[in-house]
Amino acid sequence: MGWENNVRKVVPYTPGEQPRVKDIVKLNTNENPYPPSPRVAEALKELSVNDLRLYPDPKAEALVSAVARAYGLKESEVFVGVGSDDVLAMLFMTFFNSEEKVIFPDITYSFYDVWAEMLRIPYETIPLDEHFKIVPGDYKRPNGGIVFPNPNAPTGALLPLSAVEEIVAANPDSVVIVDEAYIDFGGVSALPLIRKYDNLVIAQTFSKSRSMAGLRVGFAMGNEKLIKYLNDVKYSFNSYTMNRPALILGAAEVSDREHFRENCAKIMRTRAESERRFRELGFVFEPSSANFIFVSHPRVPAKVIFDYLREKRIFVRWFDKPRISNYLRVTVGTDAEMDRLFAALKEVVG
Ligand SMILES: *Cc1c(COP(=O)(O)O)cnc(C)c1O
Repeated sequence: MGWENNVRKVVPYTPGEQPRVKDIVKLNTNENPYPPSPRVAEALKELSVNDLRLYPDPKAEALVSAVARAYGLKESEVFVGVGSDDVLAMLFMTFFNSEEKVIFPDITYSFYDVWAEMLRIPYETIPLDEHFKIVPGDYKRPNGGIVFPNPNAPTGALLPLSAVEEIVAANPDSVVIVDEAYIDFGGVSALPLIRKYDNLVIAQTFSKSRSMAGLRVGFAMGNEKLIKYLNDVKYSFNSYTMNRPALILGAAEVSDREHFRENCAKIMRTRAESERRFRELGFVFEPSSANFIFVSHPRVPAKVIFDYLREKRIFVRWFDKPRISNYLRVTVGTDAEMDRLFAALKEVVG
Protein backbone atom coordinates (compact mmCIF):
# COMPACT_ATOMS: atom_id res chain seq x y z
CA MET A 1 0.00 0.00 0.00
CA GLY A 2 1.73 3.17 -1.25
CA TRP A 3 0.20 5.55 1.25
CA GLU A 4 1.62 3.52 4.11
CA ASN A 5 5.09 4.78 3.17
CA ASN A 6 3.92 8.24 4.21
CA VAL A 7 2.41 7.36 7.56
CA ARG A 8 3.91 8.80 10.73
CA LYS A 9 4.55 5.45 12.38
CA VAL A 10 4.93 5.51 16.12
CA VAL A 11 5.12 3.04 18.99
CA PRO A 12 2.60 4.49 21.44
CA TYR A 13 2.99 4.89 25.19
CA THR A 14 1.35 2.11 27.19
CA PRO A 15 -0.65 3.54 30.09
CA GLY A 16 -1.37 1.46 33.20
CA GLU A 17 -4.45 -0.70 33.10
CA GLN A 18 -7.84 0.69 34.11
CA PRO A 19 -9.53 -2.61 35.00
CA ARG A 20 -13.32 -2.74 34.93
CA VAL A 21 -13.79 -5.59 37.39
CA LYS A 22 -15.32 -4.75 40.75
CA ASP A 23 -13.79 -4.85 44.21
CA ILE A 24 -10.24 -4.21 43.08
CA VAL A 25 -7.37 -2.56 44.90
CA LYS A 26 -5.94 -0.22 42.31
CA LEU A 27 -2.34 0.66 43.07
CA ASN A 28 -1.01 0.72 39.50
CA THR A 29 -1.28 4.28 38.14
CA ASN A 30 -0.45 6.55 41.09
CA GLU A 31 -3.93 8.00 41.39
CA ASN A 32 -4.88 9.64 44.65
CA PRO A 33 -7.15 7.43 46.81
CA TYR A 34 -8.88 10.46 48.37
CA PRO A 35 -11.34 12.88 46.74
CA PRO A 36 -10.36 16.46 45.81
CA SER A 37 -11.41 19.52 47.83
CA PRO A 38 -15.09 19.78 48.86
CA ARG A 39 -15.03 23.06 46.92
CA VAL A 40 -14.80 20.94 43.75
CA ALA A 41 -17.95 19.04 44.70
CA GLU A 42 -19.73 22.38 45.24
CA ALA A 43 -18.57 23.77 41.91
CA LEU A 44 -19.58 20.55 40.18
CA LYS A 45 -23.14 20.91 41.47
CA GLU A 46 -23.34 24.37 39.95
CA LEU A 47 -22.37 23.22 36.45
CA SER A 48 -25.20 22.98 33.92
CA VAL A 49 -25.55 21.60 30.40
CA ASN A 50 -25.57 25.20 29.24
CA ASP A 51 -21.91 25.36 30.27
CA LEU A 52 -21.25 22.89 27.46
CA ARG A 53 -22.96 24.86 24.69
CA LEU A 54 -20.31 27.54 24.25
CA TYR A 55 -16.61 27.25 23.54
CA PRO A 56 -14.42 27.63 26.60
CA ASP A 57 -12.13 30.63 27.17
CA PRO A 58 -9.11 29.96 24.90
CA LYS A 59 -6.87 31.77 27.42
CA ALA A 60 -8.14 29.57 30.26
CA GLU A 61 -7.94 32.64 32.47
CA ALA A 62 -9.98 31.38 35.41
CA LEU A 63 -7.64 28.46 35.86
CA VAL A 64 -4.41 30.26 34.93
CA SER A 65 -5.13 33.01 37.45
CA ALA A 66 -6.09 30.51 40.19
CA VAL A 67 -2.82 28.61 39.66
CA ALA A 68 -0.83 31.87 39.53
CA ARG A 69 -2.40 33.00 42.80
CA ALA A 70 -1.71 29.66 44.51
CA TYR A 71 1.96 29.71 43.50
CA GLY A 72 2.65 33.44 43.86
CA LEU A 73 3.25 33.98 40.14
CA LYS A 74 2.06 36.33 37.42
CA GLU A 75 -0.52 34.92 35.00
CA SER A 76 2.05 35.37 32.24
CA GLU A 77 4.28 32.84 34.01
CA VAL A 78 1.69 30.03 33.95
CA PHE A 79 0.59 27.69 31.14
CA VAL A 80 -2.20 25.11 31.50
CA GLY A 81 -2.87 21.96 29.50
CA VAL A 82 -4.85 18.74 29.30
CA GLY A 83 -2.92 16.93 32.01
CA SER A 84 0.82 17.36 32.24
CA ASP A 85 1.15 14.84 29.41
CA ASP A 86 -0.27 17.50 27.10
CA VAL A 87 1.88 20.19 28.75
CA LEU A 88 5.03 18.06 28.38
CA ALA A 89 4.26 17.23 24.73
CA MET A 90 3.88 20.99 24.06
CA LEU A 91 7.14 21.67 25.91
CA PHE A 92 8.97 19.07 23.80
CA MET A 93 7.49 20.55 20.62
CA THR A 94 8.35 24.13 21.57
CA PHE A 95 11.79 23.83 23.13
CA PHE A 96 13.45 20.68 21.79
CA ASN A 97 14.34 21.77 18.28
CA SER A 98 18.11 21.40 18.22
CA GLU A 99 20.31 19.15 16.08
CA GLU A 100 21.94 18.14 19.38
CA LYS A 101 20.44 15.30 21.36
CA VAL A 102 17.93 15.86 24.12
CA ILE A 103 19.02 13.97 27.24
CA PHE A 104 17.06 12.24 30.02
CA PRO A 105 17.60 9.31 32.42
CA ASP A 106 17.53 5.68 31.18
CA ILE A 107 15.02 4.79 33.89
CA THR A 108 12.33 7.43 33.89
CA TYR A 109 8.82 8.35 32.76
CA SER A 110 8.33 6.16 29.71
CA PHE A 111 6.48 8.86 27.76
CA TYR A 112 9.67 10.91 27.11
CA ASP A 113 11.12 8.61 24.46
CA VAL A 114 7.65 8.22 22.89
CA TRP A 115 7.30 12.00 22.40
CA ALA A 116 10.89 12.27 21.17
CA GLU A 117 10.28 9.52 18.60
CA MET A 118 6.92 10.95 17.54
CA LEU A 119 8.32 14.46 17.09
CA ARG A 120 11.58 13.18 15.50
CA ILE A 121 13.68 14.72 18.27
CA PRO A 122 17.14 13.13 18.56
CA TYR A 123 17.76 11.91 22.12
CA GLU A 124 20.06 9.93 24.33
CA THR A 125 19.39 8.35 27.71
CA ILE A 126 21.81 8.73 30.62
CA PRO A 127 22.06 5.78 33.04
CA LEU A 128 21.04 6.36 36.66
CA ASP A 129 23.66 5.23 39.16
CA GLU A 130 23.40 1.88 40.98
CA HIS A 131 21.09 3.42 43.60
CA PHE A 132 18.81 4.69 40.81
CA LYS A 133 19.96 8.26 41.37
CA ILE A 134 20.47 10.97 38.76
CA VAL A 135 24.12 12.08 38.71
CA PRO A 136 24.13 15.85 37.97
CA GLY A 137 27.64 15.71 36.49
CA ASP A 138 26.32 13.47 33.68
CA TYR A 139 24.17 16.38 32.48
CA LYS A 140 27.15 18.61 31.75
CA ARG A 141 27.62 17.77 28.10
CA PRO A 142 26.43 19.27 24.83
CA ASN A 143 22.68 18.66 24.46
CA GLY A 144 19.53 19.94 22.77
CA GLY A 145 17.50 20.05 25.96
CA ILE A 146 17.07 18.20 29.25
CA VAL A 147 14.03 16.64 30.91
CA PHE A 148 13.71 14.61 34.10
CA PRO A 149 11.05 14.04 36.72
CA ASN A 150 11.79 15.10 40.29
CA PRO A 151 11.06 12.92 42.23
CA ASN A 152 11.94 10.49 39.44
CA ALA A 153 9.41 7.91 38.26
CA PRO A 154 9.18 4.97 38.70
CA THR A 155 11.96 5.07 41.32
CA GLY A 156 10.55 7.74 43.68
CA ALA A 157 14.06 9.15 44.24
CA LEU A 158 14.27 12.86 44.98
CA LEU A 159 17.11 15.02 43.69
CA PRO A 160 17.98 17.79 46.16
CA LEU A 161 17.33 21.34 45.01
CA SER A 162 21.06 22.07 44.88
CA ALA A 163 21.55 19.24 42.35
CA VAL A 164 18.63 20.46 40.21
CA GLU A 165 20.18 23.92 40.25
CA GLU A 166 23.55 22.49 39.27
CA ILE A 167 21.99 20.95 36.14
CA VAL A 168 20.05 24.09 35.22
CA ALA A 169 23.06 26.38 35.79
CA ALA A 170 25.37 24.16 33.70
CA ASN A 171 23.06 24.37 30.66
CA PRO A 172 22.23 28.02 29.91
CA ASP A 173 21.85 27.24 26.19
CA SER A 174 19.22 24.50 26.67
CA VAL A 175 15.78 24.48 28.16
CA VAL A 176 15.64 22.24 31.23
CA ILE A 177 12.20 20.75 31.99
CA VAL A 178 11.74 19.55 35.56
CA ASP A 179 8.66 17.31 35.67
CA GLU A 180 7.38 17.74 39.22
CA ALA A 181 4.39 15.38 38.98
CA TYR A 182 5.16 14.06 42.50
CA ILE A 183 6.84 17.04 44.18
CA ASP A 184 3.99 17.66 46.64
CA PHE A 185 4.67 14.43 48.54
CA GLY A 186 7.56 15.86 50.53
CA GLY A 187 9.96 17.19 47.89
CA VAL A 188 11.32 20.71 47.47
CA SER A 189 10.14 22.37 44.27
CA ALA A 190 12.60 24.12 41.96
CA LEU A 191 9.94 26.78 41.31
CA PRO A 192 11.86 29.66 42.99
CA LEU A 193 14.70 29.05 40.52
CA ILE A 194 12.59 30.30 37.58
CA ARG A 195 13.45 33.84 38.76
CA LYS A 196 17.17 33.07 38.61
CA TYR A 197 17.39 30.95 35.42
CA ASP A 198 15.58 31.82 32.20
CA ASN A 199 16.07 28.29 30.81
CA LEU A 200 14.08 26.48 33.51
CA VAL A 201 10.49 25.32 33.15
CA ILE A 202 8.57 23.34 35.77
CA ALA A 203 5.69 21.00 34.88
CA GLN A 204 3.14 19.89 37.48
CA THR A 205 -0.20 18.10 37.43
CA PHE A 206 -3.57 17.89 39.18
CA SER A 207 -3.57 14.11 38.65
CA LYS A 208 -1.64 12.91 41.68
CA SER A 209 -1.45 15.25 44.68
CA ARG A 210 -4.66 17.04 43.69
CA SER A 211 -6.81 13.92 43.17
CA MET A 212 -8.06 14.89 39.71
CA ALA A 213 -6.54 12.47 37.19
CA GLY A 214 -9.98 12.17 35.57
CA LEU A 215 -10.27 15.90 34.89
CA ARG A 216 -7.01 16.15 32.91
CA VAL A 217 -5.33 19.32 34.15
CA GLY A 218 -1.61 20.01 34.13
CA PHE A 219 0.43 23.20 34.16
CA ALA A 220 3.85 24.66 33.45
CA MET A 221 5.59 27.52 35.22
CA GLY A 222 8.48 29.55 33.86
CA ASN A 223 9.49 33.05 32.86
CA GLU A 224 7.18 35.13 30.65
CA LYS A 225 9.25 34.60 27.54
CA LEU A 226 9.19 30.80 27.80
CA ILE A 227 5.46 30.79 28.49
CA LYS A 228 4.84 33.10 25.53
CA TYR A 229 6.70 30.72 23.17
CA LEU A 230 4.75 27.80 24.64
CA ASN A 231 1.41 29.53 24.11
CA ASP A 232 2.33 30.40 20.51
CA VAL A 233 2.74 26.68 19.78
CA LYS A 234 -0.41 25.75 21.68
CA TYR A 235 -2.55 28.27 19.75
CA SER A 236 -1.07 26.88 16.52
CA PHE A 237 -2.26 23.42 17.48
CA ASN A 238 -5.60 23.73 19.30
CA SER A 239 -6.99 26.95 20.78
CA TYR A 240 -9.49 25.25 23.09
CA THR A 241 -7.47 22.66 24.97
CA MET A 242 -9.17 23.20 28.33
CA ASN A 243 -12.87 22.40 28.56
CA ARG A 244 -15.23 24.52 30.67
CA PRO A 245 -15.66 22.05 33.55
CA ALA A 246 -11.87 21.66 33.78
CA LEU A 247 -11.41 25.44 34.06
CA ILE A 248 -14.01 25.79 36.80
CA LEU A 249 -13.26 22.64 38.81
CA GLY A 250 -9.50 23.06 38.53
CA ALA A 251 -9.71 26.61 39.86
CA ALA A 252 -11.87 25.40 42.78
CA GLU A 253 -9.34 22.72 43.72
CA VAL A 254 -6.24 24.91 43.61
CA SER A 255 -7.92 27.54 45.79
CA ASP A 256 -8.15 25.14 48.75
CA ARG A 257 -4.64 25.03 50.20
CA GLU A 258 -5.68 23.53 53.51
CA HIS A 259 -7.40 20.46 52.05
CA PHE A 260 -4.50 19.92 49.66
CA ARG A 261 -1.94 19.94 52.51
CA GLU A 262 -3.93 17.47 54.59
CA ASN A 263 -4.48 15.18 51.62
CA CYS A 264 -0.72 15.04 50.90
CA ALA A 265 0.10 14.57 54.59
CA LYS A 266 -2.24 11.57 54.82
CA ILE A 267 -0.51 9.89 51.90
CA MET A 268 2.93 10.59 53.33
CA ARG A 269 1.89 9.00 56.63
CA THR A 270 0.63 5.87 54.86
CA ARG A 271 3.83 5.82 52.78
CA ALA A 272 6.02 5.79 55.90
CA GLU A 273 3.96 3.00 57.43
CA SER A 274 4.02 1.04 54.14
CA GLU A 275 7.81 1.35 53.90
CA ARG A 276 8.03 -0.15 57.37
CA ARG A 277 5.77 -3.05 56.33
CA PHE A 278 7.68 -3.69 53.09
CA ARG A 279 10.94 -3.80 55.07
CA GLU A 280 9.41 -6.26 57.53
CA LEU A 281 8.62 -8.61 54.64
CA GLY A 282 12.20 -8.40 53.37
CA PHE A 283 11.58 -6.09 50.41
CA VAL A 284 14.39 -3.75 49.37
CA PHE A 285 13.84 -0.22 48.08
CA GLU A 286 15.24 3.29 48.15
CA PRO A 287 13.24 5.79 50.22
CA SER A 288 10.40 7.30 48.20
CA SER A 289 9.48 10.98 47.93
CA ALA A 290 6.43 10.19 45.78
CA ASN A 291 3.01 8.57 46.25
CA PHE A 292 4.42 5.17 45.27
CA ILE A 293 7.19 2.85 46.43
CA PHE A 294 9.50 1.00 44.02
CA VAL A 295 10.24 -2.35 45.62
CA SER A 296 12.10 -5.56 44.91
CA HIS A 297 12.29 -8.83 46.82
CA PRO A 298 15.58 -10.74 47.09
CA ARG A 299 13.89 -14.17 46.91
CA VAL A 300 10.64 -13.87 44.96
CA PRO A 301 10.71 -12.50 41.40
CA ALA A 302 8.68 -9.34 40.82
CA LYS A 303 6.67 -10.95 38.02
CA VAL A 304 5.61 -13.80 40.33
CA ILE A 305 4.42 -11.31 42.96
CA PHE A 306 2.72 -9.20 40.28
CA ASP A 307 0.77 -12.19 38.92
CA TYR A 308 -0.18 -13.38 42.39
CA LEU A 309 -1.51 -9.95 43.37
CA ARG A 310 -3.42 -9.68 40.11
CA GLU A 311 -5.20 -12.92 40.83
CA LYS A 312 -6.28 -11.37 44.14
CA ARG A 313 -7.49 -8.34 42.16
CA ILE A 314 -4.73 -6.14 43.55
CA PHE A 315 -3.17 -4.17 40.70
CA VAL A 316 0.37 -2.80 40.91
CA ARG A 317 2.76 -1.86 38.07
CA TRP A 318 5.48 -4.08 36.65
CA PHE A 319 7.75 -2.85 33.85
CA ASP A 320 9.28 -5.45 31.55
CA LYS A 321 12.35 -3.27 30.97
CA PRO A 322 16.13 -3.53 31.42
CA ARG A 323 17.42 -2.94 34.99
CA ILE A 324 13.94 -2.75 36.56
CA SER A 325 12.18 -5.99 35.57
CA ASN A 326 12.59 -7.32 39.11
CA TYR A 327 10.82 -4.32 40.65
CA LEU A 328 7.22 -3.39 41.33
CA ARG A 329 5.89 0.13 41.56
CA VAL A 330 3.20 0.23 44.22
CA THR A 331 0.97 3.29 44.59
CA VAL A 332 0.24 4.40 48.15
CA GLY A 333 -3.50 3.84 48.64
CA THR A 334 -5.77 4.17 51.65
CA ASP A 335 -4.80 2.35 54.85
CA ALA A 336 -7.50 -0.26 54.15
CA GLU A 337 -6.14 -0.87 50.63
CA MET A 338 -2.62 -1.24 51.99
CA ASP A 339 -3.90 -3.76 54.54
CA ARG A 340 -5.27 -5.90 51.71
CA LEU A 341 -2.00 -5.53 49.80
CA PHE A 342 0.19 -6.58 52.72
CA ALA A 343 -2.06 -9.52 53.61
CA ALA A 344 -1.58 -10.85 50.06
CA LEU A 345 2.16 -10.07 50.05
CA LYS A 346 2.59 -12.07 53.25
CA GLU A 347 1.12 -15.08 51.45
CA VAL A 348 3.45 -14.79 48.47
CA VAL A 349 6.78 -13.87 50.11
CA GLY A 350 6.19 -15.00 53.71
C1 LIG B 1 1.58 10.90 36.00
C2 LIG B 1 2.76 11.59 35.39
C3 LIG B 1 2.63 12.62 34.46
C4 LIG B 1 1.37 13.03 33.77
O1 LIG B 1 0.25 13.04 34.39
P1 LIG B 1 -1.04 13.74 33.78
O2 LIG B 1 -2.13 12.89 34.31
O3 LIG B 1 -0.97 13.73 32.29
O4 LIG B 1 -1.01 15.10 34.34
C5 LIG B 1 3.75 13.27 34.01
N1 LIG B 1 4.97 12.92 34.44
C6 LIG B 1 5.15 11.92 35.31
C7 LIG B 1 6.52 11.59 35.74
C8 LIG B 1 4.06 11.21 35.80
O5 LIG B 1 4.24 10.19 36.61
